[in-house]
Amino acid sequence: MAKYIFVTGGVTSSLGKGIIAASLAKLLQARGITATIQKFDPYINVDPGTLNPYEHGECYVTEDGAETDLDLGHYERFLNIPTSQANNVTTGRIYQTVINKERAGEFLGKTVQVVPHITDEIKHRMLLLGKDGKYDVVITEIGGTVGDIESLPFVETVRQIQWELPEEDVMVVHLTLIPYLKAAKELKTKPTQHSVRMLSETGVHPDVIVCRTEEPLNDDIKRKIALFCNVKPGAVIEAADASTIYEVPLLMQKEKLDEIVLKKLNIQNYSAPDLTKWNVFLTKLKNPKSTINIGLIGKYIELQDAYKSILESFIHAGAMNEVKVNVVNVHSENITAANVNEQLKGLHGLLVAPGFGNRGIEGKIIAVQYARENKLPFFGICLGMQMAVIEFARNVMGLVQAHSVEMDPNSPDPVINMMEEQKRITMMGGTMRLGSYPCTITKDSLAYSIYGATEINERHRHRYEFNNDYLTAFHEKGMVTSGVNPASGLVEIVELPNHPFFIGVQYHPELKSTVEAPAPLFVHFIAAAKKQAQA
Ligand code: GLN
Repeated sequence: MAKYIFVTGGVTSSLGKGIIAASLAKLLQARGITATIQKFDPYINVDPGTLNPYEHGECYVTEDGAETDLDLGHYERFLNIPTSQANNVTTGRIYQTVINKERAGEFLGKTVQVVPHITDEIKHRMLLLGKDGKYDVVITEIGGTVGDIESLPFVETVRQIQWELPEEDVMVVHLTLIPYLKAAKELKTKPTQHSVRMLSETGVHPDVIVCRTEEPLNDDIKRKIALFCNVKPGAVIEAADASTIYEVPLLMQKEKLDEIVLKKLNIQNYSAPDLTKWNVFLTKLKNPKSTINIGLIGKYIELQDAYKSILESFIHAGAMNEVKVNVVNVHSENITAANVNEQLKGLHGLLVAPGFGNRGIEGKIIAVQYARENKLPFFGICLGMQMAVIEFARNVMGLVQAHSVEMDPNSPDPVINMMEEQKRITMMGGTMRLGSYPCTITKDSLAYSIYGATEINERHRHRYEFNNDYLTAFHEKGMVTSGVNPASGLVEIVELPNHPFFIGVQYHPELKSTVEAPAPLFVHFIAAAKKQAQA
């Protein structure tokens, strides 16, 4: 059986529970302890797949095709091990399971209630990943803020687990905010005291308090927080603002968070921390030799979280190339044929982002044309790849009305079509082509020079595809389809040989980029942009 750490949050949302959880897991991993992280989200959506990115940011997709919260991306980027469907549970999924059981008569005439039926289902899922011996420690991040009505059943379940399991098998880390009042020149502990009191009223007792703060906490304040919140004096931890999230594991190490955890959970078998690879990455990240400008063409650019994995992949690939990647957000709705030169001036590479629906589509197509004609390194992901196909069809092949049936169902040249298996589907949630699929790469292609392999696996999230009726026509005009799904023949990669770097992929390479294994496509795209900048 694994040991369990729960991470709760108080005072306000957006304190970075996911990063704290991922940093703690990283520190344990660096000591030879196997750890995984899961997130329990209090909303009623069965998964975040149906959520607009403006609501909760990017939808992160796992190997097994689960549409999950973006925090799972952080878990994978930090730990370099894949997560799965089991790592993200919502209230909606819990209720769906319990209601399905009720309809099947499994409760034998009992009244089905929040306690014990909903909490039993939550408990089952909270403990699940720790049961097969794969992990020494399971860290569970509880979404939302303590005191929210909707997270109560989760907190109640943590209470039950804290009560049921031996003391050395479970602990609670509570993350709060210590605001600094400029006028009074003082750090204020009262909000933290209140949030710990609220947590204690539900019966959950925190073992560690992690304090987000803009100013250093002195010993007096730490002692005061410890006293009022009833934790050991050494168990109040400062989480100062960091210049990059990748520094947080080191900050937590300095505060001895890992040592506190090892002691509380009575873990005997561990090694000295080895963060060599992590530190090599951090050093490169902090000492870039030059800066390059990459245009990110999308429609959710007001909200950075909508492209989280792409932005993090730039950071990984930038460090690898020893350059700082300055991401210039360009709203695709603002790009027109008349202003494209102005809009994309000074860029060394262009990434056309994934997305859904009609808004900003023509701007994306104009941006692709600009990159193709001006020999600017181009990288299209999912919708971005589809736009590259449409641009080529319209401007090179002369199919002026070519389109995707997603935007124009009546296009005479539907070069991007709906996948056969999608046509019968009417439900929206979890019904796209999701998760990891194999792709076979042709030798002598840009894709092969990037991956150095003919068989790869990448993750997907889409309904539409390259229309193979047009395959020969595209080949004749010079677009190369260098990657296909071996079973279905679906086109996964397109590229243009007479161009320094022009590639579009139907899948999402950003979902597999981690600190220790940056996505090859990003590494090579940044390298091409670096060359462009030097030229
Ligand atoms: N809307 C497109 C499709 O469903 C692209 C999806 C995406 O970019 N993730 O195929």
